[in-house]
Amino acid sequence: MSAASNANRAVIEQSQRDVLGFDVHSLHIGPYRIHRIADMDRVKWPATAMFRAMTGDALVRAAANTPAGMIDVAEEGLLLSFNSYVVETPDALVLVDAGIGNDKDRPDRPRWHKRTSKFLDALAAMSFTPERFDIVINTHLHADHVGWNTVLKDGAWVPAFPRARYVTPEGELAHWGKLYETQGVETLHGAYADSVAPLVERGRLETVATPSEIAPGISLEPAHGHSPGMAVVRLKAEDTEVLFLADAVHHPLQLSDPETTSNFCQDPAMANATRRRLLDDCVARGTIVAPYHFPTPVFGRFERASAGYTYVPL
Ligand SMILES: [Zn+2]
Repeated sequence: MSAASNANRAVIEQSQRDVLGFDVHSLHIGPYRIHRIADMDRVKWPATAMFRAMTGDALVRAAANTPAGMIDVAEEGLLLSFNSYVVETPDALVLVDAGIGNDKDRPDRPRWHKRTSKFLDALAAMSFTPERFDIVINTHLHADHVGWNTVLKDGAWVPAFPRARYVTPEGELAHWGKLYETQGVETLHGAYADSVAPLVERGRLETVATPSEIAPGISLEPAHGHSPGMAVVRLKAEDTEVLFLADAVHHPLQLSDPETTSNFCQDPAMANATRRRLLDDCVARGTIVAPYHFPTPVFGRFERASAGYTYVPL
């Protein structure tokens, strides 16, 4: 455990522990607690499967500006995690983004197909049983952010968190809901049908404008581009701000050239503009960032570098 403080600032502490095989990283800021738990952790992907421009020299340049252990230059691969965050505030217990989930039919995504992860067991082992959650945020409705919205029970998809408010930006449901009307079960690799529609049908998915404060100190802010209505989540914890980045910055290799768009960005130009704006804002405000797909270490700050930006873990 390490601590950093000065006279007038909140004490920030970090800790790490193994919970049922999950590498849980926690950040403590006064009475606020943030726990990162990854439904899939440090998975190796071919770099071009995520960033088609990332070959040879471009990858070498990106790696020079990226913390060790996040890019494997020799194999032209990158490490990727799927980080959900449990946020404890004095007012609410919140889950920011909901992973891939279990039992989901994802024939075109073999690693996400019919999984049997112990994610919920690990949360329960940390005392976060499903009924304790007040809010579940889907920053956007992509399949790897909504999986644990629902679980399979007696052959039906039911909300995994029985009394939580499920919250997503209104632009997300508007876009993907409309597509579902024409594409049906194909939408979002099947995720709309099994992880979003069951909430909509029960009146459990609350849509909000961005920006809006959804609970004391917790706001959704617009970060459109990667997905049409995507939001980032800002937590104000005493005098410190933490920004849950969703997929606005997908991987640290984008920092040396922030125009590097991922293959999964719906509107690359808008995604690039959003990324630049957020990076500059985080640098200017000294915001702590909690990225969704960065491999550990997951809490850090962005700083300017001679080429683009760097990620500096806390
Ligand atoms: Zn994602």
